[in-house]
Amino acid sequence: MELHQFSIKQIHQHLLQKDFSARELVGHYLGIIKKEEPKIGAFLAVSEDEALEQADYLDEKIKQGQEVSLLAGAPCAIKDAILVKGQKCTAGSRILENYFAPYDATAVAELKKQGAIILGKTNLDEFAMGSSTEHSAFQVTRNPHDLTRVPGGTSGGSACAVAANECVFALGSDTGGSIRQPASFCGVVGLKPTYGAVSRYGLIAHASSLDQIGPLAKTTEDCQIIFNAIKGKDENDATSADTDNSSVNVDLKNVKIGIPQEYFGEGLEKATREIIEGVIKKAQKAGAEIRKISLPHSKYALACYYLVSTSEASANLARFDGIKYGLSQEANDLAEVYFKSRGQGFGSEVKRRIMLGTFALSSGYYDAFYIKAQKARALIKQDFDQVFEQVDFIFTPVSPFPAFKIGEKIDDPLKMYLSDILTVPISLAGVPALSLPAGKDGHLPVGLQIISRPFNEQGIFQIGQQLEKIL
Ligand code: GLN
Repeated sequence: MELHQFSIKQIHQHLLQKDFSARELVGHYLGIIKKEEPKIGAFLAVSEDEALEQADYLDEKIKQGQEVSLLAGAPCAIKDAILVKGQKCTAGSRILENYFAPYDATAVAELKKQGAIILGKTNLDEFAMGSSTEHSAFQVTRNPHDLTRVPGGTSGGSACAVAANECVFALGSDTGGSIRQPASFCGVVGLKPTYGAVSRYGLIAHASSLDQIGPLAKTTEDCQIIFNAIKGKDENDATSADTDNSSVNVDLKNVKIGIPQEYFGEGLEKATREIIEGVIKKAQKAGAEIRKISLPHSKYALACYYLVSTSEASANLARFDGIKYGLSQEANDLAEVYFKSRGQGFGSEVKRRIMLGTFALSSGYYDAFYIKAQKARALIKQDFDQVFEQVDFIFTPVSPFPAFKIGEKIDDPLKMYLSDILTVPISLAGVPALSLPAGKDGHLPVGLQIISRPFNEQGIFQIGQQLEKIL
C-alpha cells in the first residue's frame, strides 16, 4: 500500500511500529500536493516548513518512547475560514487577503493538541457563500473526478484535497450544505454536526445560528475520529454543548429509516434518484425498516434559509470596515474608508447577500421577511422533531445533481441557490447529517445524506460504516 492509502488508525499503528516516520509520511503528502495542485487548486497556502518541523518533533517523541495520541502525525488541511494561529486566514476574500490569525480556532487547537499535522489552508467561496467554490477571490478549484467541473462548495478546497489524496482529512464548515455538498461532488465522506456540537470559536462567521465546523475524510471511521476530537463544550462559544460519546449500538438490521417524498420530487436528476433508491433497497435487504415520511414544510426551506442566513451575514460582515481587519483604503473621511474598503474588498456574491440581509432586517420589512422566516424555520424544525418520533434516520440525496460544469451557474444566483435545496432544511433544523458516497453517475460521485436526531452523530457513524460495507 502507498502511504496516502492509510486511514488515521493505520497511520497511528505504522508510526508506532516505525514502519515509516512522520517525516516520510508528511513528505509523501507534500509531494502529492506539489504534483496535483497545478491541476486541482485546492490549497490557498501550504505550510511545508511548519509541517515538516512538526513531523520531526513527533518522530523524536516516538523515538523516545513517549505516548502519542491517535491523531498524531495525521496530515490534514483546514478550510481558510477557520483560524490557524500565525497563518493567513482569507475566508476567500480580498478584504482579508493579508489578515493573519491571532489565535487558533478551538477545533484547530484540539487537533494540534492531538498532534495532527496541518499541511495548509484550503480554498472556499468568499465568506462561505456559494455552492461551487467559484466565488473565491483567488482561484478556481477543480473537481479531481473531472477537471472541467466544480468541486461543490463552499468547502470545495477541503473536499478536493481529501479526494485528490493531498491530505488524510480536512476541516470544513457548513452553514447550508458546505461540507455535505462538496463531499458528495468529490466522492468523500463529510459530516455536518448538530448545531452546537462543535465550537464555532475561530470560524469566520457567515450565519451564526447555522454555522458548524465538521470533518471531511475518505471514510466514516476517520470522520468519527475527527469529530470526537473536536466536539464538545467550549467556554468561548456559548452555543456549544457537550455530547454523550458513549458508543451506541445501532444496527442496520433493526433501524427505521424514513424516506421523505418531498426530497425525491421535481428537479432531482434521474441517475441521482436511482442511486439513492438503490441504497435504500440495500438497507432494506440488510433488515432496515423503510418508512415513507413527510417533511411538509421543507418546501419553504430555501426561501427561509436565504432570509435567515443573509440577515445574519449582513450583521456579521459589518465588522469588516477597513479599520479593524485586513484591507483598508485611504480616504478623506471615515465613511469613505468604509465605502472604499468594503466596495473593493467584497466580491459580488457577498455584496448581494449583505444587501438582501440588510433589506430583510430593515424596519418595515422585518416582520414580513425576517420574522416570517423565523416562523417558517420553527415549522421546518417541528417536522423533523415529529418524524424522529417514528424513525431513527432519514435518507435523502445530498444534491439533486452531481458536480456541474465550471461556469455553468455562476451568472445565475438562483440556479446556484437551488443546489442547496436538499441540505438547507437540515441546517435550519439544526440536526446532524452525513454525506456518504453512494455510487456514481457515469464518472461523477453521488452522495447519500444520512440525517438523524440532534446529537446522534455516533448513531450516524455506525450506519455509515455499515453502509460502506455493502455499497
Ligand atoms: N450554498 C449555501 C450558501 O451559499 C451554503 C453555504 C455554506 O454552507 N456555507 O449559503
